[in-house]
Amino acid sequence: MKHALTGLVALSLLAPSVSAQSLTGQPAQASDAYYVAARADLATRIAVTPNTGRARNIILFVGDGMGTSTLTAARIFQGQRQGVDGASTWTTMDRLPYAALVRTYSHDSLVADSAPSATALLTGVKARNDTVGVDHTVAVDDCAGSVGHGAVSLFETAEDAGLATGIVSTARITHATPAAAYAHTPQRDWEHDAELPAAAVAAGCTDIASQLIAWPHGDGFEVVLGGGRAAFLPKTAPDPEDPQARGLRQDGRDLIAEWKLKHPTGRYVWNRAQFDATTPARGEPLLGLFEPDHMKYEAERDQDVGGEPSLAEMTRKAIAALQQQDKGYVLLVEAGRIDHAHHVGRADLALADTVALDEAVAAALGMVDTPDTLVIVTADHSHNLTISGYPPREAPILGSVTRGDGVRSIASDGKGYALLSYASGPGAVDGPRSDVADIEHDHAPYPALVPMRSAAHGGEDVVARATGPWAHLLNGTIEQNLIYHIMAHALGEGADEPSTKAQD
Ligand SMILES: [Zn+2]
Repeated sequence: MKHALTGLVALSLLAPSVSAQSLTGQPAQASDAYYVAARADLATRIAVTPNTGRARNIILFVGDGMGTSTLTAARIFQGQRQGVDGASTWTTMDRLPYAALVRTYSHDSLVADSAPSATALLTGVKARNDTVGVDHTVAVDDCAGSVGHGAVSLFETAEDAGLATGIVSTARITHATPAAAYAHTPQRDWEHDAELPAAAVAAGCTDIASQLIAWPHGDGFEVVLGGGRAAFLPKTAPDPEDPQARGLRQDGRDLIAEWKLKHPTGRYVWNRAQFDATTPARGEPLLGLFEPDHMKYEAERDQDVGGEPSLAEMTRKAIAALQQQDKGYVLLVEAGRIDHAHHVGRADLALADTVALDEAVAAALGMVDTPDTLVIVTADHSHNLTISGYPPREAPILGSVTRGDGVRSIASDGKGYALLSYASGPGAVDGPRSDVADIEHDHAPYPALVPMRSAAHGGEDVVARATGPWAHLLNGTIEQNLIYHIMAHALGEGADEPSTKAQD
């Protein structure tokens, strides 16, 4: 403290207008609205006390590809869509009291894909790109090398300890992020049997969809909601939503029928009406597969033939189901399509899906008791979205950059430019770039520098925000795999202890 004061005195000598009096008295700007708001915010933060109780429940939200620029742009988008100032909007995620910067590199790459990053979040170890639920020694595609190198997920230890578990995603439920909760494979693309090479089958590997159905932990997931139905159906089976489409399995298995056999009291739903009609009940696990492939983007959800619930609706249903259980629960909720929208350069779709995730977080916080529930919201990795230019504060986040007088800002090539753009992706062009005029209404990829059919992920740190027991351990800069250890610690490490195994 002495040193700090000495430093301030020294500073005041250099800058006479900053006097020591401002530490205790009212500075000239004390009635300024920004100043007043920040003082109120300060008081709120001083009142926050760390919760060191045991977590009964854990809810982990993952925005796939939801980097910090996506968070900022989505906040502005959310406010502007509501007709208020976007820049100063507070999302539900923004209001979570604790946060950390998260280093997302994988064992073998500066830039992770969802497979090793989900593995880090859910098993506590870093792994190699494209591998799911295995440790860092396992090379991609090496089935023989993966034997004996599975990494146990928090969901597996939780189920074994008698807790309830659930996974929710707008992506295929066999996609990398949800798969890390239950699958162990050296190749994330082995989602159904037709994807496995003969050598992998011979070495004993199985596809991700079949691993979900065969999952040998506790009494299995209480709730599974997402897309990806085709990986569960034989290629002879017509899809209920699109009779022209067929399942993808070559082994003739109908994994949905197998799930029903395994869970005679369970309920399977594939459309909105069935979902709405389902009231979660104890001892009645719920499987919902709403699309043959990924679920729709939020902005296009109303175009679905069979109807799809929103991420917030799925989150509410999942929590209602998990709350029926005695011993607490672990739930993963993934906004899986933020990433897909960025891959195709559609920042507009990515922001709408990020807002949908924020609504799911709000839905969860409205249902749970945060003193006994650790809620974490993070991303698996970033994307290369940039917010750049000096538009007026009220400029549409999805539009082109304008000056204060509303005239478009012009770059040195004489053309306008978008406020949002990408370092790589399908929005890049060979030769001179085109002008950017009406981009917010184009429904086209946003501009990119490096041409790629699919934009590359971003490698900078992502943010994790949290509330509830041990949320304060999310602070400073952390390794991504620490998040697993914080969750396990918050559960009292109980899920790691064989001695606590299924006493009821
Ligand atoms: Zn991706």
